[in-house]
Amino acid sequence: MKKFEGKTVLVTGAGRGIGRAVAVAFAREGANVVINFAGREESAKETVALCEAEGAKAICVKADVSKEEDCKKLLEETHAAFGEVSVLVNNAGITRDKLLIGLTEEDFMSVLEVNLKGTYLCTKLAVKDMMKKRSGRIINLSSVVGVHGNAGQSNYAASKAGVIGFTKSVAKEFASRGITVNAVAPGMIETDMTDAIPEAMHEAMLNQIPLKRIGTPEDIANGVLFLASDEASYITGQVITIDGGLMG
Ligand code: NAD
Repeated sequence: MKKFEGKTVLVTGAGRGIGRAVAVAFAREGANVVINFAGREESAKETVALCEAEGAKAICVKADVSKEEDCKKLLEETHAAFGEVSVLVNNAGITRDKLLIGLTEEDFMSVLEVNLKGTYLCTKLAVKDMMKKRSGRIINLSSVVGVHGNAGQSNYAASKAGVIGFTKSVAKEFASRGITVNAVAPGMIETDMTDAIPEAMHEAMLNQIPLKRIGTPEDIANGVLFLASDEASYITGQVITIDGGLMG
C-alpha cells in the first residue's frame, strides 16, 4: 500500500518548481492531487500529466491564493473531484526583491498578500475538512530568509517570518483535533525563483553551502512528505530547515 493512498492533497502554486515536485512526490505515493495555479495553465497541465504518469488522479484549479473568493472556489473544486482535504501544502509564493529604500508599498503588500495572506486563507478553509475528520496535515513553505533575514528581501523575509508565527499558532489551536501544522524553510533551491539571481552571486552562495550543491525541488518535497506522513504524527509547530547546512 502506498503511503498516501486515498488521501486528498492540495498543493498551492504547483504549476512548476517546488510545488510541482511536491505534487509529483505525493502522486507517486498514491494521493489524489489538486494542483493549484495562478499563471500558466499549460504548466499546471504538465504537472497533472506528471502526476498521472505516476498512476495517480490529479486535477488543476486556477485560483489566486491571495483572494478569498478564489480560495473558496479552489476548495469547492477539490471537494467535487476528490472530497475533503487530508493534506494542505501552502507553497504559492512570490518575491519582489529591492533594498528598503526603493521598496514601494505595493512591493511590500503584494508579497505579504500572496505569501502570508494566501497561507491564512487556504489554511482557514482546508482546516474545516480536517476538523471534521479529526486528522490532517498542513505544511507551509517558509524560507531561511524568514529566520535569518536577507538584504534586499525585507518584504519577503517579513512574509516568511509571518508564516512561521502563523504555523506555530495554528499548530497550538488544532493539535487537540489531530491536525499537525509545520513549516519547511528551504535554503537555495534551483527553480525559476532563484534563476533570476546573477551568476556571480549564485557562485558566491554556492561556496557558502557546506553540502556544496544547490538544493533541488525534490529535496524539499522529501521533507514535505515526511511531515505529512504517519511517521511525523508527533511533530507539530516546527520549522524544518532544508538548506544543505547553509545556516548552520
Ligand atoms: P516558483 O516561482 O518557481 O513557484 C512559485 C509558484 O507559486 C508558481 O507556480 C506561481 O505561479 C505560484 N503563485 C504565485 N503567486 C500565486 C498566487 N497568487 N496564487 C497561486 N499561485 C501563485 O518558486 P519556488 O522556488 O518553486 O517556490 C515555492 C515556494 O518555496 C515559495 O513559497 C517560495 O517562497 C519558497 N522558497 C523557495 C526557495 C528557493 O530557493 N527556490 C527558497 C526558500 C523558499
